[in-house]
Amino acid sequence: MIDTPVWHPFTQHGLGEPIPEIVRAEGAALYTTEGQRIIDGISSWWVNTHGHCHPRISAAIAQQAGQLDQMIFAGWTHGPAQDLATGLRAIMPPDLTRVFFSDSGSTAVEVALKMALGYWRSRKGGARHRIVVMEHSYHGDTIGAMSVGARGVFNQAYEPLLFDTTTVPFPAAGCEQATLDALEQACSDAAAFIVEPLILGAGGMLTYSPCILAEMRAICARHGVLFIADEVMTGWGRTGTLLACEQAKVSPDILCLSKGLTGGSVPLAVTMATEPVYQAHYSQDRADMFFHSSSYTANPLACAAANANLAIWAEEPVMQRIATLAQKQQAFVVSLQDVPNVENARRCGTIAAFDISVPSGQGGYMAGLAPALLAYYRSCGLLLRPLGNTVYAMPPYCIDADDLAALHEGMVQSVSAIG
Ligand SMILES: *Cc1c(COP(=O)(O)O)cnc(C)c1O
Repeated sequence: MIDTPVWHPFTQHGLGEPIPEIVRAEGAALYTTEGQRIIDGISSWWVNTHGHCHPRISAAIAQQAGQLDQMIFAGWTHGPAQDLATGLRAIMPPDLTRVFFSDSGSTAVEVALKMALGYWRSRKGGARHRIVVMEHSYHGDTIGAMSVGARGVFNQAYEPLLFDTTTVPFPAAGCEQATLDALEQACSDAAAFIVEPLILGAGGMLTYSPCILAEMRAICARHGVLFIADEVMTGWGRTGTLLACEQAKVSPDILCLSKGLTGGSVPLAVTMATEPVYQAHYSQDRADMFFHSSSYTANPLACAAANANLAIWAEEPVMQRIATLAQKQQAFVVSLQDVPNVENARRCGTIAAFDISVPSGQGGYMAGLAPALLAYYRSCGLLLRPLGNTVYAMPPYCIDADDLAALHEGMVQSVSAIG
């Protein structure tokens, strides 16, 4: 039965699960063709920050669309990209002096890895190429990004193409020293360490402390190993601060940003780098240049949307909304304490998560209860997408008290409804 040629991502079409159609979005809500209002509990897969169709972002895109839509970015430039690079330099850690554009989180990571190898190629001590990664991490779905992410059912088929990395254990509470020791050891011949700061998203909303992030950064610095912060999910306020790195008072050598960069409206990514990383590619020899581009690099419409996002951050009480949301998420997490079958209730900034207890060996991404949970949430008008048996809420910062309460209620009810 073929009713649509559309092949959806991370979807098993063979199960015949319904795929509702959305026609419109506003604030924290999506509306189906039938007119059902859906609360967007996961910011449309972690991208949306200020709510859907924010008037300033939509207007900026429309205005730019009438002026300059798209142009080559090799050897040519345009105002929206210049403004955005200048704007990012002003609010990101001061050591990150250079801004390289691409169009998704995965490509921002690929660019970061290529920059790191380019940096080491130019070093007198000799080239290095080994990348150190953290257990359970996720950095995207392209071959390089998968290579530095956790291996599992979602990349088993591609395993022969993935390159070798060194994995340090996740710094679970009480076991942090093992992570630091492993990193110390791995740094002896590594080019770079790539990490999701404070919270591992796709790995199951696993949190660790800012102190550990700071210690990992210090180890890399001591060994001259490049520290790559993948803030594709954690950036733009999600963890309570503009960058998660801020909470550990660390500045990476390379920073990946995407998702909330345009407020979650259109695709865009940047990889920011320190002067030494840039200078490693700077010479009078064309062979030393950074060999990377994609057709839509620094697309003007996307840059205009990102500039509007920066203006919203500068002029609207975004941090206040984040603080309010974080507080309510914390109250929710506390309220989960005595709920049967709820484990490991946790929060990082605006993100609240818990695990539904399952018999041992039946957890993980493919946990059997995921399809039932999805169906339950659809029936209550909630957009939630558990990671295996991990249920989490990561709404846009504009979500109001009623919608947030409905979201929390649905999450709690789902545990007994499905269990
Ligand atoms: C989503 C994500 C990516 C990949 O971004 P895409 O835009 O989906 O390619 C990379 N790293 C992290 C931490 C992410 O959460």
